[in-house]
Amino acid sequence: MAASPGTAIGPVYVESPIQFDYPEKAVDAAAEQQKLSAAIKQAHADLAASVAKATQAQAREIMAMHQELLEDPSLAEGAAERMSKGLSAAAAWWSEIDSAATLQAASSDALLAERAADIRDIGRRVMAILCDTPLPQKPDTPYIWVAEDIGPSDVVNMDPAKVLGMVTAGGGASSHSAILARSLGIPALVAMGGAVMSLKQGTEVILNGEAGTLWVAPEAEQLAQAKVRQQQEKELAEKAWASRDQHATTRDGHRMEICANLGETAKAVEAVEAGAEGVGLLRTEFVFMAQSSAPGLDAQIAEYKKAIDALDGRPLVARTLDVGGDKPLPYWPVPKEENPFLGVRGIRLCMQKPELLETQLRALLTAAGDQPIRIMFPMVADWSEWRWAKDMFDKVQAEVQAKDVQVGIMVEVPSAALNAQVFAEEADFFSIGTNDLTQYTLAVDRGNGELASLSDGLNPAVLRLIKMTVDAAHAKGKWVGVCGELGSDPKALPLLVGLGVDELSVSLKRVPMVKAQVRDWSLTACQQLAEQALKASDANAVRALVGEAK
Ligand code: PEP
Ligand code: MG
Repeated sequence: MAASPGTAIGPVYVESPIQFDYPEKAVDAAAEQQKLSAAIKQAHADLAASVAKATQAQAREIMAMHQELLEDPSLAEGAAERMSKGLSAAAAWWSEIDSAATLQAASSDALLAERAADIRDIGRRVMAILCDTPLPQKPDTPYIWVAEDIGPSDVVNMDPAKVLGMVTAGGGASSHSAILARSLGIPALVAMGGAVMSLKQGTEVILNGEAGTLWVAPEAEQLAQAKVRQQQEKELAEKAWASRDQHATTRDGHRMEICANLGETAKAVEAVEAGAEGVGLLRTEFVFMAQSSAPGLDAQIAEYKKAIDALDGRPLVARTLDVGGDKPLPYWPVPKEENPFLGVRGIRLCMQKPELLETQLRALLTAAGDQPIRIMFPMVADWSEWRWAKDMFDKVQAEVQAKDVQVGIMVEVPSAALNAQVFAEEADFFSIGTNDLTQYTLAVDRGNGELASLSDGLNPAVLRLIKMTVDAAHAKGKWVGVCGELGSDPKALPLLVGLGVDELSVSLKRVPMVKAQVRDWSLTACQQLAEQALKASDANAVRALVGEAK
């Protein structure tokens, strides 16, 4: 499945899970305990050294979080208990890590799986020391990275300049590895199945991140064609970059607003540099996740101010905390749920901890001052949730009195789209989260690689919900954005324009290209295409329609 556009050509580096060799049993528990303590200490010191060297803020945060995980006494205590029963230090540590990670990963959600990956990551660090087995070194020369899955903790050891492309066996188009690849601007394929893990190291491949194909050991002719395509892509990207500060206006004069999605405020400077007209989705979870306790008011104000200052008068659309049963916070244990995606998440969870949302709203409004801020609530499915959140917002805003504020709803549950007429009475805007909207409309888990081909936001059912949302909003003079990954899909672009969406918020690296693509279409053509797409039988038929039109 295509996950991030672009052509990559190069040798593969297949990152297979490492095998550690160690005895299962040991006789001297005290000696084993000492070995484990020393290895944990060493791993901690190695991480501290890496934190000091890291240049990327995100990498530093992840490593600092790994240090905290290593300090978690429950892991060491669990391992000690196993050693007291006769296990060797390595066997005890690994089984403790394995059960902690399995517990985290019990849900199929991508973000939670990544937390499990963090636990396994620190587990491997300690194992490498205990078993005297060096962790695999990535090649020094550029490569195409093939792995089971790629999560944020993998970014720590990654040099984006060396990674030509990414291929994962698992994941889906809106899984974290796909979002990550797009945010780095690296061509990627996901959900390729286990077979990719048996590719021979160094095999040359051609990865086409738009068609969703991987050519293994191509012939000279295919290689030559791919190089031509790569050159054309490079020229197009350069052209788009050169015109990034121009508006995204269709040939017949219809203006679209193109913004960037951010997962950390520090990137707002880059977003402006890339020509973004604002931030269309700030996923504020990052402020809450890499911590061992809830961030206070001042810390949050400082964090949001970074983005507001960098945006220099451009709007910031901030989504309030969107965590839940599937993405737990370390300091906020929630009961295990059978179906976390259908459970207490997003605004539902905030309703259980009103003080948390209140502090966040106060921080966002205070940080904004007289600059434009748009606040939206995630996972709103029912009027009562909106009313509750809006009341809280009104109360805080009455005290803070930020100057330029709008309050809206993320439309990512079908009921919000179906009842958009009602919500449009009060909400100032809607932003459509196509990742979740697709998952809930089609009953397809967004992180399930096996179902990835079904999980297509161009399914006419999803397009109809988008249309309902737009029509309801426009009837009340409100605006609609799309902040899900669909906005970055070149095939979706004319349809979203034709359906009347006003703003697209896409991954930062895609901003110049999306602006350039808008300039390539006319609104009339987009509207005709959208009308046909709404009558199509399925997502493939919709894709074929767009393919013929372009
Ligand atoms: C979405 O669901 O489309 C969305 C933008 O939110 P997230 O991907 O963070 O769930
Ligand atoms: Mg969502």
